[in-house]
Amino acid sequence: MRDFEHHNSAVWAELLVDCMGASGLYTYRIPDGLSVGPGDVVSVFFGTQQVGAITVRTSDCLSEGLNPSSIKSIEEVISPAFFTKEYWSLLNRVADYYQTPFIRVLKAALPPGLLSKSQRRIRLCKTNPIGTIELSINLQKISQSAIQLLEILRNSPDGDYSWQYLQRQIKAPRKTGSATQAIRQLKQRGLVESYLIAPRAPRAQKRQAVVLTADIELATGQLTENLTSRQQEILTGLARLGGELWLSDALQQLHTTSKTLKKIADLGYLFIEPREILRAGSHSQALPDRPKTLTEEQAAALGVLQGLTGYAEALLHGVTGSGKTEVYLQAIAPILNVQKSALVLVPEIGLTPQLTDRFRSRFGQQVCVYHSGLSDGERYDTWRKMLTGGPQVIIGTRSAIFAPLPNLGVIILDEEHDSSFKQDQPMPCYHAQQVARWRAELEQCPLILGSATPSLETWVRFKDVKPNSKPDSAQAIKPQRHYLSLPQRVHARPLPPIELIDMRRELQDGNRTIFSRPLQTALESLVETGQQGILFIHRRGHSSFVSCRSCGHVMECPNCDVSLSFHQTHSKAAAHLRCHYCGYSKLHPKKCPECQSPYLKTFGSGTQRVVNDLAKYLPQARCIRFDSDTTRNKGAHRALLTRFANGEADLLVGTQMLTKGIDLPQVTLVGVIAADGLLFMPDYRASERAFQTITQVAGRAGRGAQPGRVIVQTYSPEHAAIEALMKPAAVAPHLTERDETAQPGTTQKGTTQPGTTQYGEFLQQELRDRASLGYPPYGRLILLRLSGIDEQTTENAAARLARRLEINAKNGDRYDILGPVPAPIFRVARRYRWHILLKLKPGDPAPQLRRLRAPKGISLTIDVDPLNLS
Ligand code: ADP
Ligand code: ZN
Ligand code: ZN
Repeated sequence: MRDFEHHNSAVWAELLVDCMGASGLYTYRIPDGLSVGPGDVVSVFFGTQQVGAITVRTSDCLSEGLNPSSIKSIEEVISPAFFTKEYWSLLNRVADYYQTPFIRVLKAALPPGLLSKSQRRIRLCKTNPIGTIELSINLQKISQSAIQLLEILRNSPDGDYSWQYLQRQIKAPRKTGSATQAIRQLKQRGLVESYLIAPRAPRAQKRQAVVLTADIELATGQLTENLTSRQQEILTGLARLGGELWLSDALQQLHTTSKTLKKIADLGYLFIEPREILRAGSHSQALPDRPKTLTEEQAAALGVLQGLTGYAEALLHGVTGSGKTEVYLQAIAPILNVQKSALVLVPEIGLTPQLTDRFRSRFGQQVCVYHSGLSDGERYDTWRKMLTGGPQVIIGTRSAIFAPLPNLGVIILDEEHDSSFKQDQPMPCYHAQQVARWRAELEQCPLILGSATPSLETWVRFKDVKPNSKPDSAQAIKPQRHYLSLPQRVHARPLPPIELIDMRRELQDGNRTIFSRPLQTALESLVETGQQGILFIHRRGHSSFVSCRSCGHVMECPNCDVSLSFHQTHSKAAAHLRCHYCGYSKLHPKKCPECQSPYLKTFGSGTQRVVNDLAKYLPQARCIRFDSDTTRNKGAHRALLTRFANGEADLLVGTQMLTKGIDLPQVTLVGVIAADGLLFMPDYRASERAFQTITQVAGRAGRGAQPGRVIVQTYSPEHAAIEALMKPAAVAPHLTERDETAQPGTTQKGTTQPGTTQYGEFLQQELRDRASLGYPPYGRLILLRLSGIDEQTTENAAARLARRLEINAKNGDRYDILGPVPAPIFRVARRYRWHILLKLKPGDPAPQLRRLRAPKGISLTIDVDPLNLS
């Protein structure tokens, strides 16, 4: 294990030092007799402090300009081969491809404070016991603090304390001398020594748990009269949730206070006590379940997945509700049985409560969650568990791709098309799918990509592969790729039909609300019949497109195939329309250039506005807002979804988060308030994303026994993505009749939403468009983002960088330079932002950009294969 990149001749080591004020890599000498290799955790002196460090590289020659005699030696190896060779190679590959200094990749991959958790300790030198006389001589010219610390150490049973503890004992360092100085003096006199201990296995944390004592009485309905009805309600709720909850969860899910719970506890019906884990698992919803009997298609897919050996890729293309998750679960089970682990990546944390519960139900405590929403301490603990633990399932977001699981048996990316797998900033701007592919290759394990709407890039990778092809060892293609399709929902439940509403006609007919008449009717009957629905609003960030409310005309760039964005620096400034690709700009016209209507406006309707409008027009409807505002707190996703699942609201009103993985069988209606926000994003991917998002959100309807209904409102029914959505299913010709008994405002009524076949057809069309414009996957993009506090300096820096790139292009680098242009969101957090886009032709080698430097005060981010151009 230790011999990778590890030469006997290596005498120098470059280290990532964990110390405030340390940046970059530092060179240290490897002393004779010490064996040090990349991935080792070592201890060194940094200034006067002894700190932990990770060995990044070793070499036998010293970088120029360094003086060998001034270089300190490594003290000792604390934790050899902390990282495996494969893991180390992975980080190197990320650094190379994403043009990021290795150290930044390492920092992105490591949980914060990994090294600072390793503890520095001070002990009395045992080899040098001190007599009283020597002591008095020794203590001349020594600070008060040093004397004090020595006393503390000598009076302790084993003469050994943590550095932090000792530091706290110095009450007035200004007067008596600092602890650092004190220790230095004591060390110089050979009285004490300092050492470092590796991070310890985390001590299990105890948390307050609420546990039911009276479940028998509750079950038999014999609750005593001394309880109020509210108290009974809480007890029944607790029983229903498994009889045990963490206090924090109980407060949220039972809508109560600690005081109320305490009262019930005093009455003897429950108790509150500190616990390490809950017997019922940390989340009470996770009732154990067994593998389901697979449908024929699921079984075929699982068969292929279980036959995979070594590095292979599979695309599980299944319509919403086709049971992809069940396939993942059954693919993972045998992997755990052979003592290997599984890594499951999901797009956003909003998705994880339900998904995590399903995994916990199946695999219990072997399931861990890892994402940036965890506290530093929790992340650190999970990390330690991964490094030391047995076979486990890690469910996490993007950054979990760096989870240091040894013995990886499979990597799964659920909803692989989702753009949150890409990091926009800071660097490294990695795509978790790309990193997953490298990792699967290095670890020789399969990579499974799952989606109802695979990304265009993924589609291209798999499109030549025949559906459900069995692995064929004779025909050794490298790597193996398998296209697996689940074209039907479980129990052959129909995909809900999509009804398209032309909002221009609504306006013509005098309806100025954001709810079309068909949606109003649907909402009314939903509330009457006690069913549940979802209203989806696209959140566009700050920038927005401009369209005509009368004719639907959208302001577009004459040079590029994108819509213009609305810009206004402050409320009195003239409004501009601008193209984010080429920089084209014009004044915001007062009237629509097509029909002269004055209703030429930017688009916008947030969740808050929808909830407000709904309250006016349908006051009896109970709504839950589900967006980044209402789900900010820890556990809020789960709490809101639980409330909704318990029937506490008729409607869930939210943004993007609603599109993902929510499996609520009682939802029968899905309304998309305005598809336009999706269609005209200033982005060449807008169509693809719009199609994906609408399909995904529509897929939340009709997952239970009751059939679903989807209403999509738009001002642009003839947009290609919308037309593709409405295209009748080619596989089911008897379903293709269109509903001509149109209700007012209705343009079309799709009889079913697109299945896997139609999605493929849509992508073929998209591919042709991309090819004609040279956008990915035909050619590659690299986006350089600059930002700075000063407007002019930032603009100048962008111009200078562009000139540098032009010179490099003359000297052999191959790319087209677009820009510099102001970023779509020009000013963020008081910083001005500029973009330069490099367009590479297919097969052109990537230019080396790591040497590019921005002037002081300007930050430069290199985004390779950017997904987000804003
Ligand atoms: P997807 O991930 O493709 O959207 P899910 O895995 O969430 O689909 O499955 C949809 C629903 O069908 C879930 O409630 C799931 O428990 C259920 N389900 C999946 N597979 C089966 C099966 N073979 N038999 C019965 N129910 C199933
Ligand atoms: Zn118009
Ligand atoms: Zn343009």
